[in-house]
Amino acid sequence: MAIPRASRMEEPVGVMVLDSEFYDQHEAVVFRKDTRSGLRAIIAIHNSNRGPAIGGCRFLPYRNEQDATEDVLRLSRGMTYKCAISEIAFGGGKSVIIGDPSVEKTPAVLHAMADFVEDLQGRYIVSFDMGTNLDDVRTMGQRTAHVGGIADGAGNASESTAEGVFVCIGAALRHRFGSDSFAGRTVAIQGVGNVGGRLAQRLAQAGARLIVSDVSAEAAQAAARDTAAEIVDNAMIHRVEADVFSPCARGGILNAGTIPDIEAAIVAGGANNQLSTPADAQSLLARGIVYCPDYLVNAGGIVDLYYQQPRIARSGLAAHLRRLGAILGEILARAGSEGVTPSAICDAMAEERFQDDRA
Ligand code: NAD
Repeated sequence: MAIPRASRMEEPVGVMVLDSEFYDQHEAVVFRKDTRSGLRAIIAIHNSNRGPAIGGCRFLPYRNEQDATEDVLRLSRGMTYKCAISEIAFGGGKSVIIGDPSVEKTPAVLHAMADFVEDLQGRYIVSFDMGTNLDDVRTMGQRTAHVGGIADGAGNASESTAEGVFVCIGAALRHRFGSDSFAGRTVAIQGVGNVGGRLAQRLAQAGARLIVSDVSAEAAQAAARDTAAEIVDNAMIHRVEADVFSPCARGGILNAGTIPDIEAAIVAGGANNQLSTPADAQSLLARGIVYCPDYLVNAGGIVDLYYQQPRIARSGLAAHLRRLGAILGEILARAGSEGVTPSAICDAMAEERFQDDRA
C-alpha cells in the first residue's frame, strides 16, 4: 500500500537561526514537522557552488530545537569544507531528525524524511550518520532518488575512509621524515572500529608496528589478533612512543590536557572534530607536532559516495583516494613554509574552492 506523502505542517520554532554563530551564510535552512508520522526534522544547505549539497542524516534525541539547529548548521558547514578540500563536485549539507531512534525510527518517519528531501528537488542528497544506517537510507530511497551511499556493489564506505587515512599518513611521513615507507614506523591507533580496525590491517600489511586502544576490550583484542598490535590502556594511547598518533574513535581528543603528553611526531586519524578548540592546532604547532586536518584525512568516505553516483565511473575512486595524500602534502608544505598551522591552510584552500567567483 502506498504511504501518503508527508503533510506540510510547519510551525514557528522560536529558534534564532539567523543570529546563530553557526549560520555563516547558509543557502537554506528548512524545518519540517509532520504530524502524521511524528517527524521533526531540519535540513541545512550551507553551500552548493561545487554541486548538490550532500550530508548524513543524524537522528538524535536533542535536548531542544536550538541544539538540533546548531548541530545541523555546524555539520553542514563542515561538509562544504570537506567536499571542497577533497576536490569532489558536491556542496555541503546535513539533516537532523529530532528524536530517539531506538523508539521513534519508523518507516513512516523515514518516508516523511524522504519526502522532505524530495521537496528540495536534488539540492540536498541524504546519506547516513549517527542514529541512521544504510538500511534507513535504503528506506528513504523508496521515496526519493536523492540518496547517497547505497549503490549496489559499492561495499562499506568505511573501507575508503580507512584507505584515505592510510594514504594521508603516508603523505605526512613523507613530509616529516622524507619517506613514506611504513617499515620501522610505529602508529598508535585510538579506536579500532569500522575505520580504525581497517586502518590497522592496512598499516600492518604495509609493515608498520601498531599500538592500539579501544574502550571495547573485544575490539582491541580482535585488532591485535589480526595485526600483532600491542594493546594499551585507552588513557595512555596518546602518550605512547610512536611516529604517528591516529585518533579513530571520538572528537575532542586533542586538547589542553592531552597535547603536552603526545609523543608522536604526527597526528593523523579518521575521527571527526579531533581538536577540542581551534587554538589546539596552534598548541600542536608550538610542540612541533604535524597535525593533519581531520576533515581531509577522513574524507575517503565522502569521496566514495561521490563515485557511487550513476554517471560517475567507479574506477576513478582509487586514484582520487591517493589524491587526498597529494592535497595533504601540499597543505603541510605550505603550512611549513608560512609557519602557520595546517588547519589554517586547509581551511583557506577549501574556501578558495567553494567560494562563488561571481560574488
Ligand atoms: P565505530 O563505532 O565503528 O568505531 C569506533 C571505535 O572506537 C569502536 O570500536 C569503539 O568501541 C571505540 N571507542 C569509542 N569511544 C572510544 C573512546 N573514548 N576511546 C577509545 N575507543 C573508543 O566508528 P567508525 O565508523 O570507525 O568511526 C570512527 C570515527 O571516525 C568517528 O569519529 C566517525 O565520526 C569518524 N568517521 C567515520 C567515517 C566512516 O566512514 N565510518 C567517515 C568519516 C569520519
